[in-house]
Amino acid sequence: MVSAGNNRETYAMNPIRKIVIVGGGTSGWMAAAILSHHLKQSVCRIQLVESADIGTIGIGESTIPPFVGLIRRLGIDEQDFMRATQSTYKLGIRFVDWRQRNERYFHPFGVIGKRIGSHDFYQCWLRARQAGDTSSLSEFSPCAVMAENGRFFRPGEALNTPIGGAGYAFHVDATLVAQYLRRYAEERGVERLEGKVVAAQQRDNGFLDAVLLDDGRKLEGDFFIDCTGFRGELITKILGVGYEDWSEFLPCDRAVAAKTSSISPIPPYTRATARRAGWMWNIPLQHRVGQGYVYSSAFCSDQEARSTLLRHVEGEVLEELKMIRFTSGRRKEIWRNNCLALGLAAGFIEPLESTAIHLIARGVDFFLRYFPDRDCDAALVREYNRRISADYEEVRDFIVLHYCATEREDTEFWRWCRNMSLPDSLRERIELFEGHGALREGTDELFRSSSWQSVFEGMGIRPRKHCPRVNNLELEQISTTLRMAKQAIRGMVNNLPTHEEFIRSQCQSME
Ligand SMILES: Cc1cc2nc3c(=O)[nH]c(=O)nc-3n(C[C@H](O)[C@H](O)[C@H](O)COP(=O)(O)OP(=O)(O)OC[C@H]3O[C@@H](n4cnc5c(N)ncnc54)[C@H](O)[C@@H]3O)c2cc1C
Repeated sequence: MVSAGNNRETYAMNPIRKIVIVGGGTSGWMAAAILSHHLKQSVCRIQLVESADIGTIGIGESTIPPFVGLIRRLGIDEQDFMRATQSTYKLGIRFVDWRQRNERYFHPFGVIGKRIGSHDFYQCWLRARQAGDTSSLSEFSPCAVMAENGRFFRPGEALNTPIGGAGYAFHVDATLVAQYLRRYAEERGVERLEGKVVAAQQRDNGFLDAVLLDDGRKLEGDFFIDCTGFRGELITKILGVGYEDWSEFLPCDRAVAAKTSSISPIPPYTRATARRAGWMWNIPLQHRVGQGYVYSSAFCSDQEARSTLLRHVEGEVLEELKMIRFTSGRRKEIWRNNCLALGLAAGFIEPLESTAIHLIARGVDFFLRYFPDRDCDAALVREYNRRISADYEEVRDFIVLHYCATEREDTEFWRWCRNMSLPDSLRERIELFEGHGALREGTDELFRSSSWQSVFEGMGIRPRKHCPRVNNLELEQISTTLRMAKQAIRGMVNNLPTHEEFIRSQCQSME
């Protein structure tokens, strides 16, 4: 312990000298990689213990744009990462049959349209639509147009062009990502141990002193990160933190997953197709495709789910189907005492918008922002929990919107979704939007206005009126700008390489 004086009082520094991460799935190795990038091992040692007997979930293949930013911040070469993890590019998600059967829409990354003068693009488009324009919102999204045409180009290399405002993420092989990040973390001094944690030693105040392995070894630490997946070995079994169950809003609680043969051409987007009691994902990688059915056990048996998946799956199934159970929700406290939970141990919101890996990165980012000393000041912990909980709730509301706005009545599941009760926060967002197309603006939110507008529009929720301020623009000016913007995006996209050509030239895996 180091004591130091200042003018008014004496304070004691009690720094964390050793962090123990329990679990080596995507969350464990992401935490190890990010922390080893920011912390010097000579100041704070990091150990990771994982159990090969237990294994990882090995699913989680679709990411969102902040993941690309994370890879860059870690100093990782994007192309090298993509080659090693069999990645493809993702420009958004195509939703099929969600509002009505035989209808589809696209939730693109990046911007949709550009402001006209000081006016919000969406409001200008709304005014034009109300005056009879037939352009769809997605025609102004560079990502949606690239996706529709199977094209790709990195927007960062075309900044002052019509596709400059696009965004992108990756489809990845989750197991290869964990291996890649493991190499990264070990090169930076993280020590890996093989072993199964069976108990912990606690102080009188509930803080953890050590975890105990099944072979009798003891791992002491100042701070512990629980990355043990749904088991929540430390956060639940040892510390007894409860779970906030969101099944009343998100009834899907099971998934059956398949790995299937690769396809050509490789689409630059994830596909989410609504089915009788849930939805199916289709995530194309370079060497194979991940497909699966997320469903509600209240409306569909496991047997039915397996046959639904096998009936609709595209390509050849390469391995045994994998069954997974989950409950959407989060831990009531994600950080308690000197233990932080990450990944599935912290909570899980069903994977419709591919947000879980992002929430792991956010969990580590906030931990670094509120980095504690060994005492883990209670106010700091409280603030962390408040901040990360807001992220979980934002994701929950966004995903619930995809279900509750359905107009489908063809199965019991979809009728239930139409009539479900909503979280107050989402109900207020919908009411706000339905009036004048206004969006609630929080700080540092994950889903920007273009995401909410795309899903509102795709699900048939359109404001009753546009913002009256847009009447200060001549309708003619709006119409001309929209026509030119559409043409510019389409013209440029037609000249871009196909997604497959781009991968071949930049990051094709050699395996
Ligand atoms: C159906 C489904 C689809 C998904 N799709 C996506 C998606 O498209 N995009 C996305 O971002 N996320 C997705 N996810 C979430 C994603 O899979 C997880 O967030 C991610 O893999 C992190 O998992 P994890 O590391 O927390 O847990 P796991 O992969 O379960 O890893 C747990 C680790 O803890 C270790 N362990 C457990 N108990 C002990 C013990 N007692 N002692 C020592 N070690 C122990 C295990 O050995 C393992 O290493 C999906 C999840 C599901 C269920």
